Amino acid sequence: MACVERKIMKVIKIGGGCLHGKKTIARILDIVEERAKGHIIVVSALYGITDMLINGMNMALESDENIPGIISRLKARHMLIARYLINNRKDYGDFNRDLNKNIGKLERLYYGLNFTREISPRLHDIISSFGERFSARLLTAILRSRGIKATCRMPHKIGMLTDGKFGDATADLKQTTRNFQQYINPLLKKDVILFIPGFYGVSKTGDITTFGRGGSDYSAAVAAVAAKATLLEIWKDVDGFMSADPNLVSAAKLIPVLSYSEAAELAYFGASILHPRAMEPVRRKKIKVEIKNTLNPDAPGSLITARSPRHKSIIKSVAHDTDIGILKVHASGVGARPGILSLVAGSLTDNGINIKSVVTSQTCISLLLAGSDLEVGRQALKTIAPKPYRTIETVDDLALVSIVGEGLFQKKGIAARCFTAVAKGGVNVEMISFGPSRAALYFLAKTKDLSRAVNVIHATFFS
Ligand code: ASP
Ligand code: MG
Repeated sequence: MACVERKIMKVIKIGGGCLHGKKTIARILDIVEERAKGHIIVVSALYGITDMLINGMNMALESDENIPGIISRLKARHMLIARYLINNRKDYGDFNRDLNKNIGKLERLYYGLNFTREISPRLHDIISSFGERFSARLLTAILRSRGIKATCRMPHKIGMLTDGKFGDATADLKQTTRNFQQYINPLLKKDVILFIPGFYGVSKTGDITTFGRGGSDYSAAVAAVAAKATLLEIWKDVDGFMSADPNLVSAAKLIPVLSYSEAAELAYFGASILHPRAMEPVRRKKIKVEIKNTLNPDAPGSLITARSPRHKSIIKSVAHDTDIGILKVHASGVGARPGILSLVAGSLTDNGINIKSVVTSQTCISLLLAGSDLEVGRQALKTIAPKPYRTIETVDDLALVSIVGEGLFQKKGIAARCFTAVAKGGVNVEMISFGPSRAALYFLAKTKDLSRAVNVIHATFFS
């Protein structure tokens, strides 16, 4: 009887935090060589490169004399790795030529920016996308020089299609899937390793658009859906999601299994493990996600799936985020005045401010912002005419603590246990709210109380 072998195809994402220094990169490529044949790798820029590209824009705006320095630093970082790790002439030569060509383009973009005296959103996205293009080509060349069949495809060549929103693009999953089936799937062979740069895609009109900082996780999730992969692995330099930040709580433990909602909540609030939107594409297709530690590749890590076993106390993690501020907009009858919320939110968004969350009552709209956005936000609202509110108030120096676990709201007494612990710990709660899904509850406390709050909650639910 004919036996149909089901092919398991993975998308592996390698984070920039792991691509730090030639020895680490060499070791990661050993793991790649051993485990990634027949699979797709979505790669971040080398450690620190995206920051260099972005800071470079401000320096180029200041003076064109800064440009040669920026360019030579970027080149040196990549050539250092190339010289050390590409061990045959041909692949080294090919990489060098290609890098020079692209560095030349980048240099012209920086001069263009200086000349036009403007960092347009379009230019911002083009320039910041270079790190991933460099790293994908570099890793491909290194593996090739080891005799591995590695190849690399740029997002615009394989139809990683976006909605065209600069700095915060969303992938067009339907069209990207069609494109991947056409351009990617024929390349997938059991001895081939296929690299794709993360972080950006291209719009219908051909514009390079990034998925926001940390967006390579999202790219990898999109690639997993579009290539119809069975599994998405995120390679990092930590084991996975933890029950609390180990820097604050020494008893913090690894979370072995969590649901898409739980992972998304943790990504939104606190744990800087995943891009907050990376769960959107994979949860629709129920593609499993594994967090893997490149420093400890045989460790089980954290698994993210549709169904996650409930922890006996429901709570999987207590996460936190610092540098939070609240902008309080006092007005009467908020609930009875259509339009006030969109007026306020629109004004903040127009000023480039991200609203983390909104809580409204009849007399007050409380907007959660990054602490650093608070003053800009206040000024923005002051310019709205006619004034739709009575007064504006700001509260800064806050931290956000969230408890995350599917079933949080079905099981009685969880919130009570949490806030009893917090009160016993002598921590004053500034504001309480529910997360965007049914898997999280969060509150704000003063930054000075953060460590105590997290520790008492962790002790309550995990010991
Ligand atoms: N390199 C980009 C960043 O640093 C994207 C990523 O690494 O996920 O934001
Ligand atoms: Mg990242």
